[in-house]
Amino acid sequence: MEKKIQKVADILKKDDVKVTFFVGAGISTSCGIPDFRSPKTGLYSNLKRLQLPYPEAVFDIDYFRRNPKAFYTLAEELYPGKFVPSKFHYFIRLCQDKKKLKRCYTQNIDTLERLAGVKDEFIVEAHGSFAKNHCIDCDAEMETEELKKQMKSKIPTCAKCKGYVKPDIVFFGEALPPKFFDRWDEDSSSKMDLALVAGTSLAVYPFAGLPAEVSKDCTRVLINREQCGDFKANPRKSDILLLESCDKVVEQLAKLLGWEEELDALVEQGRTALKDNKLHIPATEEELEKKVLAEAEAIAKVEREEEAKEEEEIDQLADTLKNVKVDN
Ligand SMILES: [Zn+2]
Repeated sequence: MEKKIQKVADILKKDDVKVTFFVGAGISTSCGIPDFRSPKTGLYSNLKRLQLPYPEAVFDIDYFRRNPKAFYTLAEELYPGKFVPSKFHYFIRLCQDKKKLKRCYTQNIDTLERLAGVKDEFIVEAHGSFAKNHCIDCDAEMETEELKKQMKSKIPTCAKCKGYVKPDIVFFGEALPPKFFDRWDEDSSSKMDLALVAGTSLAVYPFAGLPAEVSKDCTRVLINREQCGDFKANPRKSDILLLESCDKVVEQLAKLLGWEEELDALVEQGRTALKDNKLHIPATEEELEKKVLAEAEAIAKVEREEEAKEEEEIDQLADTLKNVKVDN
């Protein structure tokens, strides 16, 4: 593993070399942000209580039209301002400070890249963000303060047409922001040295297709728990696979680059500044494991309750049938 990380460090050390990041939920899980797709973590049990037809329905525009409550239940948990960036986020920031950052494409809607100090010009939020909000019917904009106010007591509703308002997060069934395509046209047609894909299983298109479009002379690096996407389907000889936790990899990488102290200082600085706002401080691996266990227990409980309810219903039905017989 160390040899492979050394390779990445060697590339990054060269003059004029810039890194392009492609990141997903995995860089934010250590911040305590639940990955709703994973059945063992996060809000799955809460979503189960909402009786979604399938977990992704929470981000489905047609479903939202009929039942916006599921999304707003989740939004309350996910709303920016509750979480502190991870070491990985600060590593992206450090690349920016060292003039080594070309761009950061993110699938995340948690805005933690911004909170870590990455500038707007470098960020492409492929799946939108909570920064702006619009009515799903007449497209009128709603100020974030107003949305937050309404969220406390009801589903935010358009003042003009009474339609539901939602943050500009890209839902399934919606187009990606034009900025995503514009930036990618620009970036993919210019020199790209290092493509660092992290914390994503490369499952959601068109984002998942980007690493395949990276030019052949660009080194691709995957930091993820498992090999996935184009790294699995069309591996290249020059690919570097680091199947480890994102934070661990950048910790090592920073060490090899001689950036360790600066990275730690950024992390510390950020946490101190954010602590006063009572944000979630990133969890240790142990705490995360505990959380996963608690979540699994919560899911089991919901399932037990559902089973008990079903059994009760069957018993009731049986009783009713019995009575019917007796009556006859
Ligand atoms: Zn409207």
